[in-house]
Amino acid sequence: MRYLVLSDVHANLEALSAVLEASDGEWDEVLVLGDLVGYGGDPNAVIDRIKTLPVTGMVRGNHDKVACGLDSVDGFNQIARQAIEWTTRVLTPENFRWLAALPRGPASVDALTAICHGAPWDEDAYMFDERDLERALPLSGPPLCLFGHTHVPSIFRIGATVEAMLPVRGERCRVSIEADQRYLVNCGAVGQPRDGDARAAFGLLEPAARAVTIVRTPYDVAGAQGRILAAGLPSVLAQRLALGR
Ligand code: ZN
Repeated sequence: MRYLVLSDVHANLEALSAVLEASDGEWDEVLVLGDLVGYGGDPNAVIDRIKTLPVTGMVRGNHDKVACGLDSVDGFNQIARQAIEWTTRVLTPENFRWLAALPRGPASVDALTAICHGAPWDEDAYMFDERDLERALPLSGPPLCLFGHTHVPSIFRIGATVEAMLPVRGERCRVSIEADQRYLVNCGAVGQPRDGDARAAFGLLEPAARAVTIVRTPYDVAGAQGRILAAGLPSVLAQRLALGR
């Protein structure tokens, strides 16, 4: 079994389409790590596309929760708030209910892998320091945890110490999951990268080979920007896509 790993699509249909095209033939099933909506201009089209995929593992993100009323917008800045309130207004009733039914993370995939949006102990938490990372991977759990939320591709190996295997650069970055080590891997954001690289980011997980590959692919940024502006959303949301910030 090979998996396509999608996180933080953020209603960016152009980026999602490019990722599906670039990864064609390289996976059997799909893992979705949350934040399908928010920021971008195509929430319904993105959800409808995800529904057509063979998704076997999925957790919700903080934007998904706020869009369907499960959480309040109080934690969002003004721009994120404007985008999520617009999203709530345009979601079809069916997609609103579909978002509301998404499961809370973490979720286990197999003996090797678990997935979450923010952190295993709190779906909305950002993992920053070594203590967070060590806490994220109990010795008894699967050795690999895939996470999202920060929109920054990153690989941490936890042995005797926490080691950041950075920088994650280039078109493909493959990491082998060694025995007796634990790993936290963020495959980056499909729809709103924040590491200074405007290309869409996704992951390919090969449990049999004990490997994860972080992949970057260009997409129609101008098209996605046009959808944001056409929706009347803040122009900074369109500008940041070109910067990858
Ligand atoms: Zn996000």
